[in-house]
Amino acid sequence: MLDQTQILSIPSSWKIELSQSIKSVAELLDCLRLDSSLLTGAQRAAMQFPLQVPKPYLGRIRHADPCDPLLTQVLPVQQELESPQGFQKDPLDEVSHNPHPGIIHKYRNRLLLIVSPACAINCRYCFRRHFPYEQQRQSRQQWVSALDYIRQHRELNEVIYSGGDPLAANDKFLGWLTAQIAEISHIKRLRVHSRLPIVIPSRVDDDLLRWMTASRLKPILVVHVNHANEIDHAVEAGLYRLQENGIRILNQSVLLKGVNDGAKTLIDLSERLYDCGVSPYYLHLLDPVQGASHFDVAQVQATQIYAGMQAALPGFLLPRLVREVPGKAAKTIIDTIL
Ligand SMILES: *Cc1c(COP(=O)(O)O)cnc(C)c1O
Ligand code: SF4
Repeated sequence: MLDQTQILSIPSSWKIELSQSIKSVAELLDCLRLDSSLLTGAQRAAMQFPLQVPKPYLGRIRHADPCDPLLTQVLPVQQELESPQGFQKDPLDEVSHNPHPGIIHKYRNRLLLIVSPACAINCRYCFRRHFPYEQQRQSRQQWVSALDYIRQHRELNEVIYSGGDPLAANDKFLGWLTAQIAEISHIKRLRVHSRLPIVIPSRVDDDLLRWMTASRLKPILVVHVNHANEIDHAVEAGLYRLQENGIRILNQSVLLKGVNDGAKTLIDLSERLYDCGVSPYYLHLLDPVQGASHFDVAQVQATQIYAGMQAALPGFLLPRLVREVPGKAAKTIIDTIL
């Protein structure tokens, strides 16, 4: 029999799965029966932004298919080392909207809290691949002063947990932070932007549900899925469990060449999300970050893809096509009139 202290010291199963993520290019190629000619380029690219793939996600990638849309999101490639004009390290100019460590405040009534610098998966197209996250790591005392910032900014009504991936943080810390925010009367909503419930579905556990639903704040989870193959039965079960606990779920995707740059693929994704009770929210055009130019879809083509979606989907399954323009007060909705 285990006594109580032993029970408390057992790490959650999601943490074990996270620690078992694949971080070696050679191992990834081997597991997926891929050609070793990909190795050198992948290893060079991984030196700039490491490879990281959790096993539950790996299990959804087709074997021996170098063009698998899930593989493309995680496999480092030689083209990442190219730096065409216009692709920058901080394309969204987040560094200049960083009024306090751990806070990005760009839009008037909502701000991001960088709750965890870590991610559970490293997505090759990520616009935060060069963000100085380590400098955002902070002590309890710094969080107390971040809370003061929120308290003083009475125009805020929503706090967004971001990262990295905020759900890579401990539930104990997240519970503490959420309880503190719930005491600030002008904050009405808590939003969590996370890919963890998709890439490691066991992240949706009792501890997570407890703090997300324990306060008066209305909880919203924005997940990140780019392709219907990312949603298997375990992911679907987790998404249902969150909703049974009163958590509203939205999805954002990035339009990515070689992953989802076709109307049919995106229509299938919206339909699959609806089967899981999730509403499509945003379809982002790629942010021009250095190392991700090979994922870029030209705006004209994006507009054509979107028109194909519009012709096949009800309005409530149509995400908004947006781009982030530095200095704007909100995301910019792309004019989709052809
Ligand atoms: C995207 C984003 C938000 C949230 O924007 P919504 O349109 O409310 O989803 C908030 N802050 C920053 C810095 C963002 O990039
Ligand atoms: S922040 Fe999101 S998109 Fe970027 S690497 Fe992490 S999970 Fe992927």
